[in-house]
Amino acid sequence: MLSNSLIELDRAHLVHPVASWRGHEASGARMLVKASGATVTDAEGKELLDGFAGLWCVNAGYGYESVVEAAAQQMRDLPYATGYFSLGSEPAARLAARLAEHAPGDLNHVYFTLGGSDAVDSTVRFARYYWHSKGQPQRDQFISVANGYHGSSTVGAGLTALPLFHAGFGMPLDWQHKISSHYAYRNPVGRDPQAIIDVSVAELRAKIAELGPERVAAFYVEPIQGSGGVLVPPKGWIAAMHAVCREHGILFVADEVITGFGRTGPIFACIEEGIVPDMMTTAKGLTSGYVPMGAVFLSDGVFNTIADGAGAAAVGHGYTYSAHPVSAAVGLAVLDLYEGGLFDNGIAMGQRLMAGLQSLADHPLVGDVRGRGMLAAVELVVDKDKKTPLPAAAAAATRVFDRAWQNGLVVRAFAQGVIGYAPPLCCSESEIDAIVARTRKVLDLTL
Ligand code: PLP
Repeated sequence: MLSNSLIELDRAHLVHPVASWRGHEASGARMLVKASGATVTDAEGKELLDGFAGLWCVNAGYGYESVVEAAAQQMRDLPYATGYFSLGSEPAARLAARLAEHAPGDLNHVYFTLGGSDAVDSTVRFARYYWHSKGQPQRDQFISVANGYHGSSTVGAGLTALPLFHAGFGMPLDWQHKISSHYAYRNPVGRDPQAIIDVSVAELRAKIAELGPERVAAFYVEPIQGSGGVLVPPKGWIAAMHAVCREHGILFVADEVITGFGRTGPIFACIEEGIVPDMMTTAKGLTSGYVPMGAVFLSDGVFNTIADGAGAAAVGHGYTYSAHPVSAAVGLAVLDLYEGGLFDNGIAMGQRLMAGLQSLADHPLVGDVRGRGMLAAVELVVDKDKKTPLPAAAAAATRVFDRAWQNGLVVRAFAQGVIGYAPPLCCSESEIDAIVARTRKVLDLTL
């Protein structure tokens, strides 16, 4: 049990990310104290199944001694080495090489960051430098997709297309543009995959024409939109958008911060889409949330253009904790777990999760069930035919979250009335079945 005074200290002094600051002052934090496998334990000693892997990041699962030992050993041997200049460390070099081996196509160059937001920031800076090196510095306009999330930094929050991250912050910036989302369940053209692809292609072409093809630096997509409510594009949508970018030489950036590391099945979702982006961002599952780390993958073409552009000069972009050796050691240990069976288990459990959630489709509150692999969502409505969202959807989402917690399940309850799932890849069949069964109970209580 945590003492009330600790809750009070948190309430008084800890500013929580993406929380209602006033609401938190009133209610205090719900604290977790330990975890193992796919189970977390809260401050009252209650055990819950973590259906969301922390913040869709603990892909491997909690409590792996091999990961703990790798971090401890690295701290004993060399807790810090800068990656600046041409200095380095053994685990960072090893991890970069192993990741490059797994990455699609010629994404052979890995730039480590501290998480996803600064990975996205780095791609914006690299894109600008790339075009400068190519003698086209006027390519300074960026396009992303409505309902997308690309982090919370000043630059990334503007590429993000969720109103919560814009209102009051002066976002987006004037060089950041959006096209509509594919959002199949609520797409004005209906669910037909080809119709959705055709509309998006036309919109992207129109946006490029409006800005001037010679002005557009890069286009950003998540292979599946996560924070927008787990929105899965139709098969072929990513490839079609990639092809439009290719027509104009526009850099294609795949943000795989959520979809990377087995979340949707393959190690990276782009592999299944059959495309090779020019840059790819990752974080979360890279270290399975045990320590912070992100990584930008650069194609040979992007890397060489920047390298040649800089010549003997340094490329002036870096963080003190880029390529941190402890994070890299954790990344290597986590990769061993993935390759040692967790990716395979994730694929099998992903099929079970999707089948289980599909069995909820006949529930009166369930409008849509969607996802791929261990990334899924159930969208709640009050009228299935009219697709009417729950009244006061944000408050309803909080109720869903609370009821799930009471029933021993952690989910993400999106403010628009969507329940999100991203369980650890280590889940057993019975844990997946429990996630589904507890969800049904929550839905029955929410009626
Ligand atoms: N990109 C995507 C697709 C994400 O989902 C996130 C975080 O959820 C980020 C970027 C930002 O990552 P971080 O929170 O590690 O800064």
